[in-house]
Amino acid sequence: MNIQEEISLSVIIPVYNEEANIPMLIPRLFAVLAQLKENWEVIFINDGSTDHTLELLQEEAGTRGHIVIVNLARNFGQHAAVMAGFSQAGGKWIITMDADLQNPPEEIPRILAEFKKGHDLVGTIRKSRRDTLFRKTASKITNRIITRISGISLKDFGCMLRGYSREIVLAILQNPEYRTFIPALATFFAANPVEIEVSHEERAGGESKYSIIKLLSLQLDLMTGFSMWPLRILFFAGSIIALLGIMLALVIIIMRLYHGPGWAAQGVFTLFSFMFFLAGCQLFGLGLVGEYIGRVFQAVRHRPSYILEKVYKFS
Ligand code: UDP
Ligand code: MG
Repeated sequence: MNIQEEISLSVIIPVYNEEANIPMLIPRLFAVLAQLKENWEVIFINDGSTDHTLELLQEEAGTRGHIVIVNLARNFGQHAAVMAGFSQAGGKWIITMDADLQNPPEEIPRILAEFKKGHDLVGTIRKSRRDTLFRKTASKITNRIITRISGISLKDFGCMLRGYSREIVLAILQNPEYRTFIPALATFFAANPVEIEVSHEERAGGESKYSIIKLLSLQLDLMTGFSMWPLRILFFAGSIIALLGIMLALVIIIMRLYHGPGWAAQGVFTLFSFMFFLAGCQLFGLGLVGEYIGRVFQAVRHRPSYILEKVYKFS
């Protein structure tokens, strides 16, 4: 029998410069997993770390076993790293989590319990989330917008401590999209999803790997990856703004005829503000269209979203 068939749980952890956290993460995670009756493996995806992450992982793997290290050729981003992990996962159930201990490994048995109740997708909601106020507010707004425009109703898209059945992972892997947002995509394939509350801690060591730019690009991926609504909003907003423009022109013409040219000069700055507003709307719209075209371009190129350097297996 193939060894892979015997594994029931694969834990997938993308790591990017996490040398500060690995020495804390592995003992805590292994203590939890050792209590399980299931056969398990932990798949670390080294996403092009430039510190000693890979060496640390290899050392731990050599002494403990149960570890697969997937080494990516360079930094491809968290979601691409998770996809690479999925491609190597042998488990019937697959759980993703972060390496920085913001997701407590102690929650894993609760996710497993949901699988055993027959759920095929276990989403999570962070209770008393430990992030900066800025991150929390931004993520609240995003969650709401995404729910509205994509029709996917998830309370918390951002938490990466989640469980997926093998079938869902296979469906996700078959998706040829270049960039995607795994938790949202997964809900499309789920027959019996559930969301549970999990606790959330502060990052144990090191710094967040997400800059504001990276966060914004993730939001844009989410919006354009799952809905055509932004394009429709463009159409409706465009029509309304154009109509308002025509009405404004009419008002100005009438007022000018009534009150003479003196009146119109005082409206110059109002006009300016409308011009800026219109120009802003146009640019915003163009940006969105550009984003869709960019996605089409990427899809047409069929570029892989990650490149494996090597897979190290320690059983
Ligand atoms: N990560 C990754 N590649 C990246 C950025 C992040 O593999 O380009 C990993 C990182 O090592 C961590 C997880 O993704 O395990 C979440 O990253 P982080 O904690 O920085 O995100 P935040 O909690 O600030 O959203
Ligand atoms: Mg984190």
